[in-house]
Amino acid sequence: MKALITGGAGFIGSHLCDHLVAQGHEVIVLDDLSTGSLSNLSQLEGSAKLRFVQGDILDRELVDELVAEADTVFHLAAAVGVYNIVDNPLRSLRINLHGTENIVESAVKHRVPYMIASTSEVYGKNDADGLKENDDRIYGSPTKSRWSYAAAKGLDELVAYVHGVESGVPCVITRFFNVVGPRQTGRYGMVVPRFVDQALSDEPITVYGTGTQRRCFGSVFDVVPQLTKLMDTPEAYNQAVNLGGREEVSIKGLADRVVELTGSGSAISYIDYDQAYGEGYEDMQRRYPDTSLATRLIGFEPTRDLNDIIGSIVEHRRSADSVPAPV
Ligand code: UDP
Repeated sequence: MKALITGGAGFIGSHLCDHLVAQGHEVIVLDDLSTGSLSNLSQLEGSAKLRFVQGDILDRELVDELVAEADTVFHLAAAVGVYNIVDNPLRSLRINLHGTENIVESAVKHRVPYMIASTSEVYGKNDADGLKENDDRIYGSPTKSRWSYAAAKGLDELVAYVHGVESGVPCVITRFFNVVGPRQTGRYGMVVPRFVDQALSDEPITVYGTGTQRRCFGSVFDVVPQLTKLMDTPEAYNQAVNLGGREEVSIKGLADRVVELTGSGSAISYIDYDQAYGEGYEDMQRRYPDTSLATRLIGFEPTRDLNDIIGSIVEHRRSADSVPAPV
């Protein structure tokens, strides 16, 4: 099989490349290297199975050419990270809306099965215990730019879904809940690599708000193998499927855990949301997934707990040449 992976030089995309190449497949990576990095693919350097194309998912001609060559498309390219979204609202919207539309339209035109990556952000402020795929979405005001990501990704799901239903081309929508692991950068906001980098350099751990907000982090190693399984499961087509972990933790609890596991001398520093992200930022208090649909469809069971997840990130950072300082 030849797979096109948009965003293949990014965090989740590069792990998917590893997974597919290990299974003997060929991959074409389309990435603009805006937040991804070629170093995420260095382990595959020289492999005849990998072709890297630097380019933009807004480039319709290029997208169409690459989709036409592929047997499957995994669309993971996106503008991600709260800082990125808040600092570049228009570019983020274009990438996340029109970029996805380009990919889906080409996939349908060439009748190539496609997966699009979505996010637990689509639930917005719904903090129900165990969010299920068809639960309501509650978004804040569009003047608060953090909601543009949730709104765009919500529409992406709709674009993928409607095209999938109308064309009959296999369509999978995956909803990732705070998926973390080695290669994720903290530069654009993601909390776990930020805390790990801060702990390893004995800098203050920057907890935003009161730290009582809760998240449930999923391991990239648990999630990535599910993507190919979902593509091979017709019952999974034309619906969103939650993927994530089981262990919920408060952000203060996460900070304590990172300090403990790294043996760091870092203190915890509480920072107001306004100072962290700009005025009027609204955080989600809780985001806990119900992953029973994925369990039913493909037998999904997360195997790594939070300590394993943090440990894998610490190990990766320690083995890297330098610890990138969070911005
Ligand atoms: N967060 C924090 N310190 C940081 C970065 C993030 O306390 O240096 C908080 C953030 O406000 C949120 C949680 O950690 O409550 C998870 O943030 P992330 O951006 O990783 O994911 P998301 O907000 O999309 O769940």
